[in-house]
Amino acid sequence: MTKTDLASIYEKAGISKKVLDLGEAALEKLAPRFAAIDAIAEYNQQKVILAMQKNRVDATHFASTTGYGYNDDGRDTLERVYADIFGTEDALVRSQITCGTHALNLALSAILRPGDELLSPVGKPYDTLEEVIGIRESVGSLAEFGVTYRQADLLPDGSFDYDNIRKAINGRTRMVTIQRSKGYANRPTLSVERIGELIAFVKGIKPDLIVMVDNCYGEFVQTTEPSQAGADMVVGSLIKNPGGGLAPAGGYICGTKYCIDRVAVRLTSPGLGREVGANLGTNPAFYQGLFLAPTVTAAAEKGAIFAATLYQDLGFKVHPAAEAERYDIIQAIDLESPERLLAFCRGIQAAAPVDSYLTPEPWAMPGYDDEVVMAAGAFVQGSSIELSADGPLRPPYTVYFQGGLTFYHAKLGILMSLQKLVDAGLPL
Ligand SMILES: *Cc1c(COP(=O)(O)O)cnc(C)c1O
Repeated sequence: MTKTDLASIYEKAGISKKVLDLGEAALEKLAPRFAAIDAIAEYNQQKVILAMQKNRVDATHFASTTGYGYNDDGRDTLERVYADIFGTEDALVRSQITCGTHALNLALSAILRPGDELLSPVGKPYDTLEEVIGIRESVGSLAEFGVTYRQADLLPDGSFDYDNIRKAINGRTRMVTIQRSKGYANRPTLSVERIGELIAFVKGIKPDLIVMVDNCYGEFVQTTEPSQAGADMVVGSLIKNPGGGLAPAGGYICGTKYCIDRVAVRLTSPGLGREVGANLGTNPAFYQGLFLAPTVTAAAEKGAIFAATLYQDLGFKVHPAAEAERYDIIQAIDLESPERLLAFCRGIQAAAPVDSYLTPEPWAMPGYDDEVVMAAGAFVQGSSIELSADGPLRPPYTVYFQGGLTFYHAKLGILMSLQKLVDAGLPL
């Protein structure tokens, strides 16, 4: 195959020579970065295999269970595999956990009781958690149950405001929530090492605090997880990194036995706990998706760095910067106009294997404050480990770009996004 063959298949896809050349120029610089990502993926691949071997995963674990789901050995073994990978005493990994927000809500409401206070020492949490906590009034929020909330913002340079965090911790502070990824905020994503420092600090002030880390989008980006840096619970969604693109739904919580026992009775019922919850045929996808997760996460991370490099070279503000160390798979790009935000998302959509003929339109989404435009043409609906882009319609019209089960799909999506910007009048 020649370079011309490659150019001609991209041309068939609607990518101009100019856009492709810009892409290739960006990629040339990235070889050492990609090699470093591959090394982390290789480490994490061995970690996953070792956990599966240690727990003697076999074909019987792929069987479907129905009804109550008593004695679901496949489900229970998968939870031990997760616990080993995340370095925790215990884990819950269930299709009955409907999404990341649900998993986070479970973890918080499992521990917090009326009169307790929750502290976020890293600023405002992810949009959907505002209603869980009751920062925005909402039926069923923690606030409705008499749980209060306090927040210490990060300092302007992104560092922890230790003075304010110390002042915020009081006799009622029971739980601390730390979001690893930046989500929709314009702040740096936290490394496992920095999360570890923060946990050591808050536990130094009040040792019996329960620390939960929102681990969404961070799994397998480094060789350790926040649970190995002192977190009592790490929480995430199976239609992000750890599901490897195959999990059709679900969420996980890994943590101490104390925490997971409480999460289990909150998920099902007091007295029942983890004993119920049929897997309904999801186990093969959960196991195989976890097996693929390290390389899928690496592909998505490469896509993020490629997008950052391409758009930064064109003069756009990107978060994190192209050359920055990264700790999640999200790339934010300030597009500075609603038209460009729409064009970018339409490029991602047009590059998808599924639903490529649809046109994303801005929409009011449950759990989000502003209208949001979302592009996704995924095998699993709403999956954001598959290539997707979204952004709230508010200045600076930041697009949050993530995923890609293969790097080559991510590459096509990013090139197509730029093509749509050019077609909409962006001068190159
Ligand atoms: C995606 C995400 C969530 C919420 O997950 P859903 O599955 O969309 O409910 C929470 N926190 C962060 C940081 C996320 O990226």
